[in-house]
Amino acid sequence: MRYVSTRGGVEPVGFSTAVRTGLAPDGGLWMPERLPEFAARTTEGPAEPAALARAVLAPFLGEDPLGAALEDACARAFSIEIPLTALHGRPDVSVLELFHGPTAAFKDFGARFFAACLERLAAGRGASVLVATSGDTGGAVAAALHRSPGIRVGVLFPAGRISADQLRQIAGFDDNVTAFAVRGSFDDCQRLLKEALADPSWQARGLTTANSVNIARLLPQIVYHAHGALRHLARCGEAPGLIVPTGNLGNALAASMARRMGFPIREVVIVTNANRLVVDWLQGAKPAPRPAVRTLANAMDVGWPSNLERLRWLFPDFGQLRGMMRAFSVSDAEIARTIRSGPARHRRIWDPHTAAAVHVLDELPPAGWVVCATAHPAKFRDVVAPLAGVAPEPPPALAEMLARPSRWTEIEPTLAALEEAWR
Ligand SMILES: *Cc1c(COP(=O)(O)O)cnc(C)c1O
Repeated sequence: MRYVSTRGGVEPVGFSTAVRTGLAPDGGLWMPERLPEFAARTTEGPAEPAALARAVLAPFLGEDPLGAALEDACARAFSIEIPLTALHGRPDVSVLELFHGPTAAFKDFGARFFAACLERLAAGRGASVLVATSGDTGGAVAAALHRSPGIRVGVLFPAGRISADQLRQIAGFDDNVTAFAVRGSFDDCQRLLKEALADPSWQARGLTTANSVNIARLLPQIVYHAHGALRHLARCGEAPGLIVPTGNLGNALAASMARRMGFPIREVVIVTNANRLVVDWLQGAKPAPRPAVRTLANAMDVGWPSNLERLRWLFPDFGQLRGMMRAFSVSDAEIARTIRSGPARHRRIWDPHTAAAVHVLDELPPAGWVVCATAHPAKFRDVVAPLAGVAPEPPPALAEMLARPSRWTEIEPTLAALEEAWR
């Protein structure tokens, strides 16, 4: 498999190069030149997740040297459990719980797969990984690469815009992980990251990124959507629509790719918070960068989603895209109301991101749906507890992380400031 830039300005590369560079030299994002087809329309349940992952991802790694890391990468990412549970009161709706990894959000899957690839690439020569985070990415990547030999990790997060608990999950590491509080928004963090990746002197130091723009984070996300859809089909006898909470569009893109590849997914419904660029775009507005708006579901506070470029590349026919994809914007009031009613109505405590997706159920026709539950509610307990009226109990790995002391360095949103601080 070869990887091409969404901007079409460079020669195709192999998987290793796409992972190592993160971003194509013309500023575009790497995409596989084609999507393999799976004849997976079966009513039997799928293989266990790691085996499905090996089958789904093997064609993407092909003859690339990183093919040798496939088994290890799938084992590390898909040792995380992925329960699919019926929603109380709605037997036709399944909840795909993507939060049973070490940092209690779906980003653990991509981060662990990426970490296994990077360790192999860096063997003997080392690497630097820079990641911009609106909250959850940084923790997942830091956890996946903490104490990896020869690899150092810099985490950029918007100063003062993440919760105290999120800060503990990013800044609680030592050794090879450094947290930087950038004076600006998530979009400033993302811009800084892109500048560093495009800078020859940073490239010479083996810099890469672990954001959802890295193809090694995106591809494994196809697997749990496929696995969830196959299990819903086995449970309910029909292909479900997927409801995906969306910020940078990585999870939604992976769901669309799984659908394209032939897995039994009727449609993909994208849910944003008040950052509604995708919704407006699908309604015909021209996409242009917007400032991020702060919301209760802050891991989705993205004004200008990076993966929009990939989505447009994958579906050059806008009419076709519009026909297969619906999008909803959910307000903070609606998110709050859904969290508040969760315990009585669905016997669940929702995190704010999953709550946005659950809210949309009431606006959709009564067909089979899989709701992607992107985080454990305890990860956002300061938002969730007062609304739900109970404090969600953190899973053990998260509890341990929340108990660590935090350390970080505050910087101006410039490359020079980052260079000065990260020595
Ligand atoms: C990152 C994140 C999202 C948004 O995912 P994207 O792939 O950026 O669209 C949603 N929910 C949670 C909990 C997240 O951490």
